Amino acid sequence: MDDGRNDIELDALYRDTVLDHFRSPRGHKTLDRIDLTRDGYNPVCGDRITMSVKLTDNAVEDVAVNCKGCVISVASASMLAELLPGKSREEALGLADAFKRMMHGDPPPPGLDIGDLDALEGVKNFPVRVKCALLAWMTLIDALEEAEKKGDAPDRSTTTE
Ligand code: ZN
Repeated sequence: MDDGRNDIELDALYRDTVLDHFRSPRGHKTLDRIDLTRDGYNPVCGDRITMSVKLTDNAVEDVAVNCKGCVISVASASMLAELLPGKSREEALGLADAFKRMMHGDPPPPGLDIGDLDALEGVKNFPVRVKCALLAWMTLIDALEEAEKKGDAPDRSTTTE
């Protein structure tokens, strides 16, 4: 892969934590109940994701993700699957928002537990890869927001474009 950068910067991109999530993605499972489901697609890179969420009392009880794509998209989706269970809807959206900001150069708010997401911080220097990193999170935001507006014709997929 040629990102037009030197090897030192690519090392910063593909850190061990990132590769570990890529090799053993979390959240690859079947839920016993699915309350929300959504597909996402990043046409720039070809990454695809299917996400299912089990919501209990307006909190994410569990999440299943199946992402087929590049290292960054798969690792980011895996980190999401690791971080999300137990988070309230609000906390989940807050985390997604913090990660979006992080990919645009703002540090996460102090005190917010971002888990392994800090290993993706270097991605912000590669604008094309930012869409890969954000695919899972944009799909999550759309899934949670779609759940709020019932009755309208559902729009079931997310794209990074
Ligand atoms: Zn990608």
